[in-house]
Amino acid sequence: MVKKNIADPKVREAVAARLEYYRELGIHDFYRRGFPEAAAGGPADAAGASGEPEMNELAVAGESGAVDHAAALRAIRVDLGDCERCPLHTMGRKQIVFGTGNPYAELMFVGEAPGADEDQQGEPFVGRAGQLLNNMIAAMGLKRADVYIANVIKCRPPGNRTPLPEECAVCSPFLLRQIDTIQPKVLVALGAVAARTLLRVNESMGALRGRWYDFRDVPLAVTFHPAYLLRNPAAKKDAWQDLQMVMKRLGLKLPKKPTGQ
Ligand code: URA
Repeated sequence: MVKKNIADPKVREAVAARLEYYRELGIHDFYRRGFPEAAAGGPADAAGASGEPEMNELAVAGESGAVDHAAALRAIRVDLGDCERCPLHTMGRKQIVFGTGNPYAELMFVGEAPGADEDQQGEPFVGRAGQLLNNMIAAMGLKRADVYIANVIKCRPPGNRTPLPEECAVCSPFLLRQIDTIQPKVLVALGAVAARTLLRVNESMGALRGRWYDFRDVPLAVTFHPAYLLRNPAAKKDAWQDLQMVMKRLGLKLPKKPTGQ
């Protein structure tokens, strides 16, 4: 394979034109074939270990023209690498918790950060809050495998503390890429951290719930975090209202209202 020097303006121009062509086809996710260890710096790091990537290393996810969501998600995971972008990697995380579920999901949930169980198992929402989230999903008539679940930050904060704004800022671009790849019909922010990070506001949950937001062309709803609902079961009826709003938007069958008999 002939190596092309990315520093060469002609090569840069050709790469830009190729990317523009793919974008016009609606293809936005790219990955490098044979992705070298030393080049795991992220999407902006276009140079390989030698500093001279090959044009052929730029491959679209899904060569038929349709974006392969699973491949695109794998590419994001590769870019995330063994992340050391914020200090959480030095604070006892066992593993990165990327996200799970259907890469073509119509419904995507965004939580806050992995807890101890998630850190142990490498999957979001597998602890007590996760059990409740599973019940919420089932109440909507869906299975966990139907939806996609991810967090704003991918590493467990020490003692399960609330993620710091700077941790959210460093990590959330990966969440945004997950959302852009999956392109769900509806996005649900679970709790204030997810809602505030995505919507870039500082409102209370009371002000955030009960309405639709446009998030990168995806309708977004806010509801209570399952961990909050475990501590405040009285709020479950409000969360159910939120989920019914989501069900309506997704065209899911709503349960019949009790007749009072
Ligand atoms: N809480 C979250 O916000 N995310 C998880 O994955 C688990 C608990």
